[in-house]
Amino acid sequence: MSGDDFRSGFVTMVGRPNVGKSSLVNAICGSKVSIVSDKPQTTRHRVRGVYNRPDAQLVFVDTPGLHKAVTALGERVNATALESLGEADDVDVVCLVLDATTPFGSGDRWVAERVELSRAVVVVNKTDRASREQVLAMLGAAAELAAESYFPVSAKARRGLDELVDHLVARAPFGPPMFPADAVRDVAEDVWVAELVREQLLAVTRDELPYSIATRVSEWEGNRVTVEIVVERESQKGMVIGKQGAVLKQVGERARAQLPAGTYLDLRVKVDKDWQRRPDRVERLGY
Ligand code: GDP
Repeated sequence: MSGDDFRSGFVTMVGRPNVGKSSLVNAICGSKVSIVSDKPQTTRHRVRGVYNRPDAQLVFVDTPGLHKAVTALGERVNATALESLGEADDVDVVCLVLDATTPFGSGDRWVAERVELSRAVVVVNKTDRASREQVLAMLGAAAELAAESYFPVSAKARRGLDELVDHLVARAPFGPPMFPADAVRDVAEDVWVAELVREQLLAVTRDELPYSIATRVSEWEGNRVTVEIVVERESQKGMVIGKQGAVLKQVGERARAQLPAGTYLDLRVKVDKDWQRRPDRVERLGY
């Protein structure tokens, strides 16, 4: 398919915590998280999911600015001191997600004030659990935002998603896919979390560590995730841990910032001298 009839765009879901942003991305892209095997240089955003169909590709990304702001808000930092989102500028479509089961509140307003509403798609989620009156009340409140469009949906019951996706595709610009289909693979969430830790580790140590460092989730229970960092030599262990655990602490903080609120991340360092030479292990580590 040539560039003339293919649409390809970046979409971000914004909204206060718990409205169902991740559930929506998962429902649209499939329950597995898509990661791009070559680190995308095209965007400053983390790819949360890629939706592919024969005539279009939608790349769902995080809006780090908003995430930071919402976290800071949670920590009661003076919200007015924070700059407006800005980071959403290079995204084609911004979806403002609202929760139909709770009235439009200050958290929703706070986020709404930080997006360009005339271009935003309002998504009223959780219609499966809300009464008709609740859905109508939320749509009424949302109408006052004067957004570009409104979609009542349910990520859980997969209701209204086709209409939403069709609209997002129609809003995406014409152009070739951002990522070739074979560069995108669907991975289980544990592989994604392990990859997230590895990425932050390499970022914090600024490439002092060899890329052979591996990570894997060894336990996942409820909101407690244990990630093992496997190094080849005892000397690398110190680099990973840092002075008084400083490196590990920073890696944990950075990774946690991208995980759902309340996630408890336990990082452990293990020395495994020859994991690279043992295919069974490489396989188990997800490479
Ligand atoms: P996020 O913080 O905005 O990413 O929200 P999540 O996707 O983590 O969802 C928050 C909670 O709402 C989870 O417990 C979800 O299972 C639930 N949830 C998300 N979408 C729906 C929906 O359409 N219907 C119902 N009933 N629950 C939902």
